[in-house]
Amino acid sequence: MENPVCHICAGRNAKLFMKKNGSSFFRCPDCKLEFIFPQPDDATLTEIYSGKYYDAWGLHIDSQTAEKSKRLTFEYRLNLVKNILNRGDKILDCGCATGFFLDLAKQKGYTPYGIEISDYAVQIAKEKFGDENVFKGNLEDAYFVAGQADIFDAVFMTDYLEHVRNPRQTVSAAFRFLKPGGMLVITTPDTSSLSKSFLGKSWIHYKTEHLFYFSRKNIGRLLVQTQFADVNFKKGIKYFTPEYVFHQFNVYRHPVFTPLARLFYRMAPGSLRKKIFSISTGEMLVLARKPALKN
Ligand SMILES: [Zn+2]
Repeated sequence: MENPVCHICAGRNAKLFMKKNGSSFFRCPDCKLEFIFPQPDDATLTEIYSGKYYDAWGLHIDSQTAEKSKRLTFEYRLNLVKNILNRGDKILDCGCATGFFLDLAKQKGYTPYGIEISDYAVQIAKEKFGDENVFKGNLEDAYFVAGQADIFDAVFMTDYLEHVRNPRQTVSAAFRFLKPGGMLVITTPDTSSLSKSFLGKSWIHYKTEHLFYFSRKNIGRLLVQTQFADVNFKKGIKYFTPEYVFHQFNVYRHPVFTPLARLFYRMAPGSLRKKIFSISTGEMLVLARKPALKN
């Protein structure tokens, strides 16, 4: 089989470095991009996305605590761009699910838009934000009554870009949809993170549905290639309760962390299980701007 072409630098030197759950993981030695090749088919991905995602949020157990930690996480991301936003500004969330982030955006006075692939989640989001504000499908195919370019003040991709089949098309579509001066905010696993260098092949982010794994350097390169400017990075922070972590590791089994989480859960008093902590998750938060028009 011919070597897969690197999605960012177009090099042909990518090497297989791991096989896991039937997927082959490649790393490009030139730009360090990691990716699954060949990509899993649609049926495999649909199967993964059906239902299991809601279990992972721990929603069946304690929705109140799960929502509180998600809210803090989303508030942190929204606050990163609040200085460029005004009341009524249009915000797009890619992979909006049932619209938890958009609920928050709406409460803060912004106009919420979303795209999502799950039928179930799209129905709920449309009921909340209106038919015209939620599109079912990928960003590059998205249609909005509001327009096909220069409509959003901020576009959020939280745990989204690693799932798409063509990140370049996705980022280019975000560029087109953003107003000049608008901001793109990406959260995605960071192969240059400390957790990756500690855990290596047992890194928690290696999953069949994560098709691409970026570093700060190569995602920066992709953003510059697609015309973005002012690219800067922050550590990805998520707010967690021990209870949430426990449910995550029950859904996504890990040889070390799942037994550890269970042990902790059995020993921790109830109040501690629901206490909210902030932790860095081996992800990066990337901010980039669509350049403003020159006068
Ligand atoms: Zn490369």
